[in-house]
Amino acid sequence: MTKTKYTRILLKLSGEALMGDQGSGIDPHTIRRLALEINELCSVGLQVGLVIGGGNIIRGSEKAAEGLDRVTGDYMGMLATVLNALAMQDALEHLGQPVRVMSALKINQVCEDYIRRRAIRHLEKGRVVIFAAGTGNPFFTTDSAASLRAIEINAELLVKATKVDGVYSADPLKNPSARFYPRLTYDEALDQRLNVMDATALVLCRDHNMPLRVMNIFQPGAVMRLVKGEDVGSLIETGRPS
Ligand code: UDP
Repeated sequence: MTKTKYTRILLKLSGEALMGDQGSGIDPHTIRRLALEINELCSVGLQVGLVIGGGNIIRGSEKAAEGLDRVTGDYMGMLATVLNALAMQDALEHLGQPVRVMSALKINQVCEDYIRRRAIRHLEKGRVVIFAAGTGNPFFTTDSAASLRAIEINAELLVKATKVDGVYSADPLKNPSARFYPRLTYDEALDQRLNVMDATALVLCRDHNMPLRVMNIFQPGAVMRLVKGEDVGSLIETGRPS
């Protein structure tokens, strides 16, 4: 029996969320802390799909700027998300939480291939599903992968976990007078070019009525309060409720 407002969510973590205070890579303490938060969500009956970025290891666009072929860089970035997914799988399994990694690229000695119906079955059985390798295509981001998978698995909510409390007019860590937006429409986020997710991801969510919450994952317990129905972070929706 679920004790939350939602039955199924898709949680998007950036690769940088795993770095802790390090400049790159995976900090064991940080990944354990994040795994604990996710495990607690499952323990109250919530079905959790996860997308983890790869920016703590490689971003294709950054590699391209250094002279590497962009498509090769993007495949390297997608493989980086698999490394993060395996690390999170391990951290969750240490807590006794059943979990499966499903990859959009075929590497089935390491993890399962992504098959939508099988992913939904895993979720129904209480397993966390980590969707790895983004969309499987270069020139996309893991924000787009998160939007796509959230829609495909019929999640009721996409949660983008960040270092800040929600959507602001400017980076609040650099600009203390930045304005906080508790509620927005996707069109407002797109028109004002607010730093929420890339346009492809926003349009996909807008066109498929997928609500998005942007929240601070480093506030202990915040994601649990959110799934229990509290107004945590910023809410972005297709249209304003009438
Ligand atoms: N990537 C890609 N296609 C996808 C998802 C990701 O090519 O569908 C590559 C891209 O190079 C990207 C990298 O993987 O920069 C890591 O993903 P992202 O930058 O979204 O990670 P995050 O910023 O969330 O850590």
